[in-house]
Amino acid sequence: MKEIDVDCDVLIVGFGPVGQLLSILLADKGWRVVVVERRTEPHAIARAVSFDGEAARIFAAAGLADELPELGELSREIEFHNGRGDVLYRSEPAAEGYFGWPDSTSFYQPDLEAALIARTEQFPNLSVLLGTEAVGVEETGEHVDVRLQDGSRISARWVVGCDGARSFVREQMDVSEQQAGFSFDWLVCDVVPHEITEYRPNNLQICDPKRPRTHASAGRGHRRWEFMLLPGESPSEMNTPDYAWKLLAMADVTPENATLERHSVYKFRSAFADRWRAGRLLLAGDAAHVMPPFSGQGMCSGVRDARNLSWRLDLVLRGLTSDALLDSYGVERIDHLQNSIELAIKLGRVICLTNEKLAAARDAAMLAGRARGDVPPRPEDIYWPIRKGVFGHADQVTGRLVPQARVASADREGLFDQVVGTGFVLMTLGDPAQCVSPESQEILDSLDALVVGILPPGTPRDTLRPGTVVDVDGTCSAYLSGAHGEAVLMRPDFYAFGADEINDLIRQLATELNLVLREDVLKVG
Ligand SMILES: Cc1cc2nc3c(=O)[nH]c(=O)nc-3n(C[C@H](O)[C@H](O)[C@H](O)COP(=O)(O)OP(=O)(O)OC[C@H]3O[C@@H](n4cnc5c(N)ncnc54)[C@H](O)[C@@H]3O)c2cc1C
Repeated sequence: MKEIDVDCDVLIVGFGPVGQLLSILLADKGWRVVVVERRTEPHAIARAVSFDGEAARIFAAAGLADELPELGELSREIEFHNGRGDVLYRSEPAAEGYFGWPDSTSFYQPDLEAALIARTEQFPNLSVLLGTEAVGVEETGEHVDVRLQDGSRISARWVVGCDGARSFVREQMDVSEQQAGFSFDWLVCDVVPHEITEYRPNNLQICDPKRPRTHASAGRGHRRWEFMLLPGESPSEMNTPDYAWKLLAMADVTPENATLERHSVYKFRSAFADRWRAGRLLLAGDAAHVMPPFSGQGMCSGVRDARNLSWRLDLVLRGLTSDALLDSYGVERIDHLQNSIELAIKLGRVICLTNEKLAAARDAAMLAGRARGDVPPRPEDIYWPIRKGVFGHADQVTGRLVPQARVASADREGLFDQVVGTGFVLMTLGDPAQCVSPESQEILDSLDALVVGILPPGTPRDTLRPGTVVDVDGTCSAYLSGAHGEAVLMRPDFYAFGADEINDLIRQLATELNLVLREDVLKVG
C-alpha cells in the first residue's frame, strides 16, 4: 500500500457505545485509531436497557466475553398487558439462545460503557481525545482532514461518524434522511429502588389507552419507567421531577422507596440515512439510524454496523481489496435495518394506542391469539437474512446468521467463538485437512481465515487433531448437515457467506470480495 502522511488510519467521531465498540474492533486489527468525543466525560445516563444475543456475541468478540455475565441480567419475562391487567403477549428469552448468549440481556448502560472504555485502554494504537469536538471535514484525495474546535487538525484515511442522532459527520455527507413515519413523546424515568425487589414480570408494557407505559429492568438494581405523553400534553411541562414522581406513583414508586436517577422526554421516532458512505466518510449507529426503543434494537443495530464495517475497513486498509467493499456496507445494513425499524413501529402501533375503541379491538385480537395458543416468534426468526451484499451462491444458510454453541478443543470447552476464534471461519463436518487446495489455502491465509472441522459429540478430546473441535451438544453438526454443502463459510460478522464444495466456496469468496490476488490463485477450484 502507498504510504500517506496521516495521523491515523481511522478517525472515529463520537465515543458512545458504537464508537467505543468500533474503535476496539479496529484497534484489535492493529490499525491506528483516534476517537474524538466532545464530552469531557463518558455519558453517565442510560439510554438503552437491553441488548440481544447477536449484540452479546459481538461484544464477546470485542473482548468482553468474561465480563458480559456480570454486566447484565437475563431479561426474563416480557409481557404486554392491557389497562385491565389481562396478558396480551408473553415471551421468555432463553438464557442460552441461538447465539450461545442470552436472547435478551437487561443492562445498565454506564456499566457496559465503562467495560468497553476499559477495553479501549488496552490498545496502545488507540487514542481517545475527550472534550474534543469535530467542527470541519475536508477530504483531500487519499485522506480526510478533520478540524477540531481548537483549530487543530487530525488527518485520517477514513472517518466514521458515530456521533449520534444529530450527527455532524452526516451533515457533511450530503445524504438524505428517510423518515419512516412514527413519532410519539415519552417521559423516560430511571429509578434505583431502595430495596432489592423481584419484579414479575421483569419487563412489562402496559398497553393502557389512558396512559401507555413501560416498566422494565435496566440492569441489576436499576429500573426504567416510561410514560407516553397524551395528546395535548407538553413535553416541557412534563419533563420535571414533580411530574415524574406523579406518574411513578401509578406504580407505587415514591421518594420513600426509590431514588429518581434522571427523567427526560424523548421523541420516539424512526429515520435512517439513505447512504452510509460518501467518499472517505462513513456512518454507524444513531448517526445512521434512529428508531423507537420498543424492540430494543437501536444500539443493537449500531453494534451490527460496527461489526459489519470493521471487517470491511480492515480488508480495505490492508490493500486486499478496493474501497468498493465499503459501498456494500450500507446496502447490507440498510436492508436489515428497515426490518428492525418496521418491527419497532409495529410494536409501537400496538403499544401507543390511546383510542379506547381501537385499543379494545387490539385486546380482542391479541387475547384470541393467546387463546389459540399462538406462540411468540423465536429470536432467530426475527434475525432477518441479508438479501443483498457480499455472499456466495444461494443456499438456505446464505445471508443468515450462524448459530453458536459449545465446542471442545483438546484443552478447553466453551462457546465456539471463544474456543475457535472469530474472523472468516470455514466450517466442515469432519476433518477438513485434506480438502483445501494450496490455492484456496493461500486465499484463506491472506484473510487470516480459520478452518475448523466439527467432530460429533462424544469424540474423545485426546484424539483431536489441531483445527478440529468436538460439537458438545450436536448443534453445530445439525446446522452443518442442514446446509447442503461440504462446508459453511462464516463471515466475521457471523453471517453465513454460503455453503458449498470447499474450494468452490473459497473461490466465490475471493470473487465477491474482489480480492487482489495473483492470477493463478484466482483460478482455484
Ligand atoms: C429511551 C431510550 C431507550 C432505548 N432503549 C434501547 C434498548 O433497550 N436497546 C437498544 O439496543 N437501544 C436502545 N436505545 C437506543 C440506544 O440508546 C442508541 O441507539 C445508542 O445509545 C446510540 O449509540 P451511539 O454510540 O450510536 O450514539 P450516542 O450514544 O448518541 O453517542 C454519540 C456521541 O457522539 C458525540 N458527538 C456528537 N457530535 C460530536 C462531534 N461533532 N464531535 C465529537 N463528538 C461528538 C456525542 O457527545 C456522543 O457521546 C434506546 C434509546 C432511548 C432514547
